[in-house]
Amino acid sequence: MTIELEHVSHAYDVEVLHDLNLKLEGYRSLALIGVSGSGKSTLIRLMSGLEIPNSGRISINGASVRDEAYRKRVGFVFQNHNLFPHLTLKKNITLILEKTRDMNKDDAEKTALKYLHMLHLEDQVDKLPKNVSGGQAQRASIARALSLDPDIIFLDEPTSSLDPILTHEVLTAVEELRGLGKRFIFVTHVMSFVKDFADYVVFMDDGRIVEHGLPEILDNPTGETLKAFMKRVR
Ligand code: ADP
Ligand code: MG
Repeated sequence: MTIELEHVSHAYDVEVLHDLNLKLEGYRSLALIGVSGSGKSTLIRLMSGLEIPNSGRISINGASVRDEAYRKRVGFVFQNHNLFPHLTLKKNITLILEKTRDMNKDDAEKTALKYLHMLHLEDQVDKLPKNVSGGQAQRASIARALSLDPDIIFLDEPTSSLDPILTHEVLTAVEELRGLGKRFIFVTHVMSFVKDFADYVVFMDDGRIVEHGLPEILDNPTGETLKAFMKRVR
């Protein structure tokens, strides 16, 4: 994919992203890393079109993230699964397909089952989110994102509320999606996953992109900030 950030700044009450510039081409899977509060969620929300930057321009695969058409081509997986609590895993997906993609019941059901199966949830499809594990719920929300057939899937710390075993289970399921031809932009603290899955890494600190490069930079950080970060997460 191609990613262009030009003078991107963003403020809530104070400015939290400061004049980000980045131009990338040809990568399939981009990891955003950095300490809590460094601006990763803000940036991934801007890149996905969920929020619009106060100033600057973001374009991905040649489309401005402000375009309605772009936002139809992306899927987002949040920190917490965000499933409707009163609907089964399957219904969580079919409802969205019927409402937003005008799919008929049969096609929606077929699509939902295909992706729930892909995420190894074939035995859980009729359960409510509260009756499955956190890892299963998070995999269902990945299935839901995939069912909309996006070009790019954004994941913002999809395992932050999970224990190490469930974290592994979810991240392994994501790695299995490699063959789908989707592009991924994700935030995580799991550095082994970054090394396995990302083909480019952006390190943020205090609302700035401090270092970026191939995942090898994690083993040989040049700057002091990334060096210190890698010591802390290891
Ligand atoms: P990260 O995901 O790296 O932890 P965030 O993008 O969530 O970082 O936050 C960056 C900064 O923006 C933090 O100082 C945070 O407090 C602030 N921030 C994030 N979201 C909001 C919001 N909705 N309103 C006000 N401040 C926010
Ligand atoms: Mg965050």
